[in-house]
Amino acid sequence: MATFQNSLPDLTRPFPPVDGPAIYIETYGCQMNTYDSQAIGGLLEGAGFRLVDNELAADAVLLNTCSVREHAEHKVISRVGEVRNRRRQAELGPVVIGICGCMAERLGDDLRKGPKAVDLVVGVDNYDALPGLLRGLTGAAAGTGGGRGAVTGHRLDAHYVAPPELYPVNNSHLVTIHKGCDYKCTYCIVPMTRGPQSEKAPDVILAEIADIVARGGREVTLLGQNVTAYRWQGSADFGPLDFAGLLERVAGIDGLERIRFLTGHPRDMHTHLMDVIGRLDKVCPWLHVPAQSGADTVLRRMKRLYTAGEYLDMVDHARRVIPDVTFSSDFIVGFPGETDDDFRATLDLIRRVQYDQIFSFKYSERPGVPAARLADDVPAEAKKARLAELMDVQQGIWARTAQAQVGQVVRALGEGPARRPPGAWRLRTPNNRKVVVLGPEVPAGAEATVRLTGWEATTFFGERLNA
Ligand code: SF4
Repeated sequence: MATFQNSLPDLTRPFPPVDGPAIYIETYGCQMNTYDSQAIGGLLEGAGFRLVDNELAADAVLLNTCSVREHAEHKVISRVGEVRNRRRQAELGPVVIGICGCMAERLGDDLRKGPKAVDLVVGVDNYDALPGLLRGLTGAAAGTGGGRGAVTGHRLDAHYVAPPELYPVNNSHLVTIHKGCDYKCTYCIVPMTRGPQSEKAPDVILAEIADIVARGGREVTLLGQNVTAYRWQGSADFGPLDFAGLLERVAGIDGLERIRFLTGHPRDMHTHLMDVIGRLDKVCPWLHVPAQSGADTVLRRMKRLYTAGEYLDMVDHARRVIPDVTFSSDFIVGFPGETDDDFRATLDLIRRVQYDQIFSFKYSERPGVPAARLADDVPAEAKKARLAELMDVQQGIWARTAQAQVGQVVRALGEGPARRPPGAWRLRTPNNRKVVVLGPEVPAGAEATVRLTGWEATTFFGERLNA
């Protein structure tokens, strides 16, 4: 039985079980959920369940959910109905449906009421309860109420370790280093759904990565709401350690070639950390540092705890000490009280930083967050127009950046077959840029040297110079 808090998954168990109840896990939202779904899978296989890849073959369906925007929750609720309809159409018996993740934490037992009621609600810190609950539900005739329940509530000690998977997302093995968040950004639901920040012990993180490398992994992504805020206070096994120190330790693992991390907070991107990143060759020169806005008035109302000027100082320092560094960011338009001048300031910041990629959203009020007390006073039309203009500006910036890359020779790591064109292979550069090449296979994890010959949207095309 897989345990948690400072230990690796139990790898001695028969793998995979062949006759246990069948579980289908569907993941929504961020990479934390991708990792958690992997951990849930490991927990359940360790308890004798077997994983299947669709809801028609399952005895139980687990939806691992996101609450960051209203739309994300609506999608899950309609999916519950869809699963039931599809099984009815296939003339299959009732199925156990469970909701995990942020929605479970936010809505709890309410999800077990009403026409779209589910059987099971398990929050982000209680996945260890899943085997027992599911055994009760799938053992007994489904729908009889055995084992039904809602288990939520934050536990600082609950850290799950996902069994390494063979070919992870983008060929980068996800490794969570902590969970939760101690920031209080006024628009954000994460502190409510994921709870306070709690660190995974350094020795567990290092052992997890060593295990990944032993299985052939060459790249990891250190994952957390705010990895740059990582602070291990010290224990009998390991002295105090901040994120810079953790990076140095991870970079010391033989066989590991690349380290990425997601997500950084501008306030924690201090000069020492950036100096360390610049010094460690294994750390990819790609920083995802959400700015959210370029206007100090808006940043204050968002409680982001930095100014646009400080953000730009961080970018300038990174450019001085991290060779070839590139940036991506998140932006919210239409935050309560955002004036047209505020929005112009956001565009100015975007032009000044020259991001490779931006993830941008219209402000959507979340119940219970501090910003919900502010009047959502930016008209929907204005939000829509600002989002369109921001994406236009970004597309212009990216077009110039991408065009300037044509003819450049880059090193890139194979990720497997590209979606298109047929017979092509997808690779990723240290700057997190996608490259597609034709010709003989570039195995996942193998490095190739490529001359960039063109680009389309966020993908480069190239010709291989060698593998
Ligand atoms: S840093 Fe802010 S936006 Fe990010 S998870 Fe924490 S509270 Fe949310």
